[in-house]
Amino acid sequence: MTRRLTDAVDQASAALDTCVHCGFCLPACPTYVRLGDEADSPRGRLHLMRAVAEGRIDASSDVFQLHLDRCLGCRACEPVCPSGVPYGSLLEMARESARSARPPSRATRAMLWLFDRPRRRRIVLGLARWMRGLGLARLCGAFLSGNATAPIRRALLMLDGSRAWSAARFPGGGVRPSSGEPDSGRARIPDSDAARAALLDGCVQGDLFDRVNRATQAVLRVNGLELVGAPGQGCCGAIHAHAGDMEGARRLARENVRALEASGADVIAVNAAGCGAAMLEYPAWLEEDPAWRLRAEAVARRVRDVTEVLADRGPREGAPLVGAVTYHPPCHLEHARGITEPPLAVLRAIPGLEVRMAERASECCGGAGIYGVTHPELGGRIGADKARALARTGAACVVTGNPGCMMQIAAFLRDERGDFDVAHPVEVLYESYRRAGITR
Ligand code: SF4
Ligand code: SF4
Repeated sequence: MTRRLTDAVDQASAALDTCVHCGFCLPACPTYVRLGDEADSPRGRLHLMRAVAEGRIDASSDVFQLHLDRCLGCRACEPVCPSGVPYGSLLEMARESARSARPPSRATRAMLWLFDRPRRRRIVLGLARWMRGLGLARLCGAFLSGNATAPIRRALLMLDGSRAWSAARFPGGGVRPSSGEPDSGRARIPDSDAARAALLDGCVQGDLFDRVNRATQAVLRVNGLELVGAPGQGCCGAIHAHAGDMEGARRLARENVRALEASGADVIAVNAAGCGAAMLEYPAWLEEDPAWRLRAEAVARRVRDVTEVLADRGPREGAPLVGAVTYHPPCHLEHARGITEPPLAVLRAIPGLEVRMAERASECCGGAGIYGVTHPELGGRIGADKARALARTGAACVVTGNPGCMMQIAAFLRDERGDFDVAHPVEVLYESYRRAGITR
């Protein structure tokens, strides 16, 4: 495992050698900003990775384990680095080394166990949906206190944060009140040259945000896409990769490659930013098997964020929704993929909707996959700061395109403000279409 890190450092050595210790990455790093420790900065973590690769410290050492573990993997350090250091890839390999040297925390192991098998995940998240529906997630979360139960409390509050938004707060051309839950009915399709699109159902997205998947299918159809199924697909593997379980991540990647290539889709639409970024890594994850790498490359070429697909089409305009939302850019859309404009283009297709941005809008929300649960203290500080910045815009609804961000932000905003909504951009567009009578 350490050999992989050594190889990676060798491959990236040209970029690493040009690191001029400029420190441009430091103010962009949420952990450095909060902790003020060089070892919790991108520059410090790269230094630790090199020390392990060169054999000066061991991957099992406390210093390596602690500071790598505290990294959010938000990749805010990448776009600001003048040397182009491939931090995200190096981090994945470093975490594989760290995990092979020492088992991860109990909270991380529990999350990996949950997402390892689809049947197990569906049962547990089915129970979670039931708790959410009865309001038990919020109730139980509010009762728990103390360090020992902090990950459980955070998981429960995030679960409560996955509740549907209320479109009723947006007046306008509305003809019917809505709960924000889309019908599963088919949209009327105006476009004759329909491309075939397969939707990545996702794990959290499919189990806790099925309404977002249904809204995604509806708005894609309205904009001329033909939806095709991809049975056999599952979790993208991002949670495993972030935790250093690359074997688990590769297994899930192979299952998705098999299912998505069989779908015959021209486009693979992804409505969870973290999953989209992970799927672009499939060729790198499977690089040691040339046949699988080629198959993964063919799939990765077709992966698009749903907002990119819609923005390319020039999304059809819907009915007015009069009010303001704050847009939060998910890290794995903005930093990892450089996608900034398409989500705003989707929101601009809604007449009357004002889009605001918070201070330090590009900073991570602290959710970062399972980080919000596994690091309740530091993830909580970052989440609370994000919630305060979002609340200061004065808009009572936040729009963001990643389930982890939606849950983390909703959990903290409801703590801060009580009455607050969080929605995915396609959910808001779907509501605009529904009011226009374009889709049911
Ligand atoms: S990925 Fe995020 S938390 Fe980690 S070093 Fe880079 S900016 Fe800091
Ligand atoms: S921004 Fe890049 S070059 Fe500058 S200190 Fe950070 S890693 Fe090194």
